[in-house]
Amino acid sequence: MSVNVSIDTISHLRTTLTGSVIEPHDEGYDEARRVYGGFDRRPVAVIRPADVDDVVRVVIFARETGLELAVRGGGHSNAGHSVTEGGIVLDLQDLSEIEIDVEGRTAWAQGGATAGAYTAAAGAHELATGFGDTGSVGIGGITLGGGIGFLVRKHGLSIDNLLAAEIVTADGEVLVADESDHPDLFWAIRGGGGNFGVVTRLRFKLFPLPSVLGGILVLPATSEVVAGFIAEAEAAPDELSTIANVMPAPPMPFLPEELHGSMIVLAFLVHSGPEEEGDRVLAPFRALATPLADFIQRIPYSAMFPPEEHGEQPSAVASTMFMDGVDREMADTIISYLESSDASMRAIQLRVLGGAVTRVPADATAFAHRDSKIMVNVAAFYEGPEEKVVREAWVADFMAAIRQSDSGAYVNFLGDESPDRVRDAYPGETWNRLRAIKAQYDPDNFFHLNQNIPPAAG
Ligand SMILES: Cc1cc2nc3c(=O)[nH]c(=O)nc-3n(C[C@H](O)[C@H](O)[C@H](O)COP(=O)(O)OP(=O)(O)OC[C@H]3O[C@@H](n4cnc5c(N)ncnc54)[C@H](O)[C@@H]3O)c2cc1C
Repeated sequence: MSVNVSIDTISHLRTTLTGSVIEPHDEGYDEARRVYGGFDRRPVAVIRPADVDDVVRVVIFARETGLELAVRGGGHSNAGHSVTEGGIVLDLQDLSEIEIDVEGRTAWAQGGATAGAYTAAAGAHELATGFGDTGSVGIGGITLGGGIGFLVRKHGLSIDNLLAAEIVTADGEVLVADESDHPDLFWAIRGGGGNFGVVTRLRFKLFPLPSVLGGILVLPATSEVVAGFIAEAEAAPDELSTIANVMPAPPMPFLPEELHGSMIVLAFLVHSGPEEEGDRVLAPFRALATPLADFIQRIPYSAMFPPEEHGEQPSAVASTMFMDGVDREMADTIISYLESSDASMRAIQLRVLGGAVTRVPADATAFAHRDSKIMVNVAAFYEGPEEKVVREAWVADFMAAIRQSDSGAYVNFLGDESPDRVRDAYPGETWNRLRAIKAQYDPDNFFHLNQNIPPAAG
């Protein structure tokens, strides 16, 4: 696509929009182009639409000028997809209204709302929808890829509770997709990422959730504890979802200094079932070893998303896959790999799936990994290009050493990787179906700055 833009073109666009336009000469430009992960790219403008009409205008403008469009919700893409070099960033942060229908137990939220803001708004009515583990992640980005968080075993993925979405397509049309209108598009956006348009509003189911028994449990990471943790998480009722990070202990103020650097399991546990059952469900985890810290308590669900610092983020190399199980031998391998690196921070994150995730057929949404057992992320911090190479090799070796039979990948945790890895996210018929729907709604691959699904030929 050729680029057809002069200096005046953006100035003209500015006059047609209700929202704001931030160009390189404007104050706040560097802040506006900043995304999580430190991707240093210079768009010609960061545009913050005020309404859906603005979104339509920007989509049409980008098409007419040939400028690359990056769509940004919460700015947490691991691949840096929400900032572009020389193109336009469509930053949805001002589209962040959340309307809760308490009686009907549903919510409409605009595409730029964050998971934390949504959880707080719903929590005010003792209601919840599950997103991930981080409040600053955008509900648009996380939901379009799936959404695996603290309620995943009880209520499924975020997409399993998505009822409808308003989408601006590549030709500037505004559609509402749900089970009966544009059902093919509705299927595709439940896992297919930002390939099909700009999602300006999402409607979710809400569940009553007055409180949870939840928080952080820190255990020493022996192979017995790591394997035991996974076995207990697999055996637990669906009301319990866990995220276990195995890592060298950071210098956290609540850990004695002599433990800094020793291997720990830093786990998040959330029990969303009946209050009287919580302690019994968590007891086996607390019994794996004497906890080094135990911050699990009865809290409002929204307290699982504390305020975050938005300073400079360290650069990290990361990779993702699914595993079938973690026995003692595998736990040994995991710990040895973590011990073999001297990265300032390195970790493996293990999330046991199952429960409600498996009760949705694999072909019901574009997220097809319904039978995958454990989601895994491996990450290492680095500074500078030389260290990056070393950390990349370590992550790749680590992943190869622990790989089992599941060759899938969760699209939301992919970095800027090869097209083959995107294929891993969409196995078998899912890929062909996504490509056919892409050809229908975006035949020119206008929305390509994402984990890209090329339109089917012809
Ligand atoms: C610290 C951190 C914690 C995370 N925790 C979890 C977790 O617990 N569970 C989980 O499932 N994932 C998690 N993720 C992954 C996260 O879901 C993805 O990175 C997701 O894409 C981020 O969405 P975003 O809107 O914040 O990011 P952005 O970078 O703004 O968006 C990512 C991409 O999504 C698309 N997109 C975003 N919003 C829209 C929209 N409204 N319309 C159309 N396309 C859109 C665009 O293609 C965009 O490039 C985490 C990521 C990070 C960095």
